[in-house]
Amino acid sequence: MHSEIPFNRTHLFGIESQFVQEVIGSGNLGGNGDYTKKCHQFFRDYYRVEHCLLTNSCTAALEMAAILLDIKAGDEVIVPAYGYVSTANAFALRGAKLVFADSMEHSPNLDVGLLEDIITQATKAIVVMHYGGVAVDMDVVMALSKKHNIFIVEDAAHGIDAYYKDKPLGTIGHLGALSFHSSKNITSGHGGLLMVNDPDFVDRSNVIWQKGTDKSKFDLGHQEYYQWVDIGSSFFPSELTAAYLYGQLLNLESITNKRIELWDYYNDSLKQLNKINLPSIPNFARHNAHIFYLKFENKEDRYELEVALINNKISAFSHYLNLSNSPFSDVHDVLASASDWEKCLLRLPFFYELSLDQIDRIVDVVKTVAKE
Ligand SMILES: *Cc1c(COP(=O)(O)O)cnc(C)c1O
Repeated sequence: MHSEIPFNRTHLFGIESQFVQEVIGSGNLGGNGDYTKKCHQFFRDYYRVEHCLLTNSCTAALEMAAILLDIKAGDEVIVPAYGYVSTANAFALRGAKLVFADSMEHSPNLDVGLLEDIITQATKAIVVMHYGGVAVDMDVVMALSKKHNIFIVEDAAHGIDAYYKDKPLGTIGHLGALSFHSSKNITSGHGGLLMVNDPDFVDRSNVIWQKGTDKSKFDLGHQEYYQWVDIGSSFFPSELTAAYLYGQLLNLESITNKRIELWDYYNDSLKQLNKINLPSIPNFARHNAHIFYLKFENKEDRYELEVALINNKISAFSHYLNLSNSPFSDVHDVLASASDWEKCLLRLPFFYELSLDQIDRIVDVVKTVAKE
């Protein structure tokens, strides 16, 4: 009998433990220390990002974005319907009215062609999410931003080391957020990054990050005290988290390369199956192989494969539900494509240590079900 194939598994390169041990030895665990600064420097160099701040999570980075944009009751914020709750919650927490955008038929990403129809005088921001690290068409989004004077936030939780044309995801909108949750390509267990691409937000982002104080000026020796100057919260992680993350970041290129190799292998092995669609990657997108998914024609077909995979000890998951149909949502729009993705998408096991033999085993099960 075959052994189990998990859905995800964190790969440890080894250097993470060394860095974490070093922090423990230093007795200086608090956060915003040397490893946090190293992570910031990594993104400034690798991403040419204007300003960035390590956070406890992508959720926290999105919450910072909503504070920075001064979102208030009455403001409308457009968010993807097929997406994660954090994207919606960050703005709901500030009292925004959420307006849900539908996906495309051939991609879970929001349909930029539909955005203009849902923009109103009250629209303050559009949040895009690059599903599976596959870029949304940002030229269209940024043109709408200019035309209607709307802020753009990129939820690039899936998007580390993925690009729109030559720009890293998260560096194109006014603000962007990455996730280092254990389900993502690079991880520190929990963790995230806020990218501040609009220089107007830099100073205030430091204040919000420092619990609403001007401590960053105090740290630079510019003043004798630090004071409460704005709202803020406990947004940055401990040095233990930053040290672990830095160890992963040093291996980013090899992580992305390996994942692309696995993704291409899946994709080549599953080509031309009847009634099962594979991910589509537009020419402007260079993805990072965050997710490998299949799209079925209906829920029943998906269920058939789910059962077959379970019987073969293979873990696979569907995930996002159409947020506009959630119990907590006050609108219940008919968003046909988002509902379709909710019912028909299945993610196959995907992680750094997945072997080509394991993919062969998974592909065999898929092909058997597809033939029936
Ligand atoms: C994982 C994820 C988040 C949340 O990330 P955390 O770091 O766990 O807060 C937000 N948005 C999307 C699209 C995600 O996939």
